[in-house]
Amino acid sequence: GQRTVLVTGCSSGIGLQIAVQLAQDPNRRYCVIATMRDLKKKEKLEEAAGNSLNDTLVVKRLDVCSDESVAECLNSIPNCRVDVLVNNAGIGQIGPIESISMDDMRKVFETNFFGAVRMIKAVLPDMKRRRAGHIVVISSVMGLQGVIFNDVYAASKFAMEGFCESLAVQLLQFNIFVSMVEPGPVNTEFEMKLMEEVSRSEFPGTDVDTIRYFKEVYLPASHEIFVTMGQSPNTVAKATVKVINMAQPNFRCQTNVLYTPLIALKYADEKGNLSVRTFYNLLFNFGTLFHFSMNLLKCITCNCFRRRVNPA
Ligand code: NAD
Repeated sequence: GQRTVLVTGCSSGIGLQIAVQLAQDPNRRYCVIATMRDLKKKEKLEEAAGNSLNDTLVVKRLDVCSDESVAECLNSIPNCRVDVLVNNAGIGQIGPIESISMDDMRKVFETNFFGAVRMIKAVLPDMKRRRAGHIVVISSVMGLQGVIFNDVYAASKFAMEGFCESLAVQLLQFNIFVSMVEPGPVNTEFEMKLMEEVSRSEFPGTDVDTIRYFKEVYLPASHEIFVTMGQSPNTVAKATVKVINMAQPNFRCQTNVLYTPLIALKYADEKGNLSVRTFYNLLFNFGTLFHFSMNLLKCITCNCFRRRVNPA
């Protein structure tokens, strides 16, 4: 029969694409519960869903940061049954930590970590009773490798990786699979939202050198990386749907092949210096390595690589 898939954060980006691709499955294998915090933003999803709207796709309200909202949404589903949970809702945060308040840091964890944990706790008892289920998390390469000026965001994704790596072992006893999808940069509203936020900040409590590194070194390099290496939400959704279709889903799925060797650096040198120094040189050694790597990035934009980053 049809599997019920609940996806969080479907008003835009990767979540919207995952919901729509599953709902438009030619074999109608999925009944998609596409959820979002604010139903006022449902138009884009409804438009993309087309004929599948109110057929294989229904839109419901769900704020991953609220117990009541999660309970209300699950109680509205027949038998509260969720076969596949896709934790996609997430927020970013960039900037020097000196300029970010503890409250703003907590918000990142409230959504990216505790929001996903709340969802998993809510569906797990029923999955365990039925001895079936699949929990998917849209993590990030930053869940495996820290990135400059993304300290708290990376930490929230690392937290999710640690949580799920631990849980996945127990859940195999119950025939429940856990999958971490780890995209590199993706061209969604995500980057724009971050750029808007930092353009408003005056970086209180931060020294001029750090502000300069952030604005003049990090921001342009980061933008360049989104332009040259960024995937489309469509590509990331396809990779996610592929994992959902597997009979024995993989635990990890890196969607961008260009990042795999970078991530491997930390396992290649157990002292950890290879990865830390490489990332330092990538960003700060303008004279040699920076130009070298920027030229490499430009080569990567040639068609053969483009196809590998966003396969048709
Ligand atoms: P996006 O901003 O378009 O989508 C994130 C969605 O989560 C938005 O629709 C937002 O409204 C929703 N959301 C935020 N807080 C919520 C809450 N409390 N309850 C319910 N929904 C909430 O960006 P995206 O790129 O599609 O991000 C989706 C996921 O992919 C995130 O978890 C993000 O960390 C991850 N990711 C993004 C990138 C990237 O470069 N864009 C890279 C790797 C991983």
